[in-house]
Amino acid sequence: MVRVQIEDIEEYAKENNVPIMMKDGIEFLKDYITKNNVLNILEIGTAIGYSAIQMCLNSNAQVVSIERDKERYDLAIKNINDFNLNDRIKVINDDALDIDITGMYDLIFIDAAKSQSIKFFEKFKKNLNKNGVIITDNLNFHGLTHTKERIESRNVRQLVRKINEYITFLKENDEFETTFLDIGDGISISKKR
Ligand code: SAH
Ligand code: MG
Repeated sequence: MVRVQIEDIEEYAKENNVPIMMKDGIEFLKDYITKNNVLNILEIGTAIGYSAIQMCLNSNAQVVSIERDKERYDLAIKNINDFNLNDRIKVINDDALDIDITGMYDLIFIDAAKSQSIKFFEKFKKNLNKNGVIITDNLNFHGLTHTKERIESRNVRQLVRKINEYITFLKENDEFETTFLDIGDGISISKKR
């Protein structure tokens, strides 16, 4: 049997327009996990398992990840099995806003529907361990959240407005202190004050 490589997943994602994390973003996340000895991770938005698998390589982390799309979920399960990580990554095939998660996590990684980040943040902050962090991906949205030019597509315009609302929500949050990093597609790290 030919073992699947991480590059195979990256290539599949590219060919099939699956929005997996950018290279330097995922490297930052992996580095954060090892340096801070993160052991328990809750991920919102599995897609095909790329970031969940990456977060387990070179770490001792256990991941619970949520994906609502059945096709992507199936592929994530296959990829995770190919990496022999099924004992460390549990994927739930459901809408993250419809299910209750009871576990406690050192890291909550929000990387799902970009218009719903505030909802994910508010819903899952109760699952954060003391000294845990909430990390969110795609705050730059390919540079569009900072552009001064008018965005043609109405859908994209709405999405960008939602992401900017999330950024304001983080900046004005009394409960959490957030650092914004211009890495990958823009990452935020929110820590309880
Ligand atoms: N974290 C992945 C990429 C996730 S892409 C990686 O870097 O490898 C975002 C995914 O979130 C999509 O597959 C989408 O189906 C899923 N998603 C969006 N909203 C969701 C929700 N409310 N609940 C569960 N999954 C959701
Ligand atoms: Mg992302």
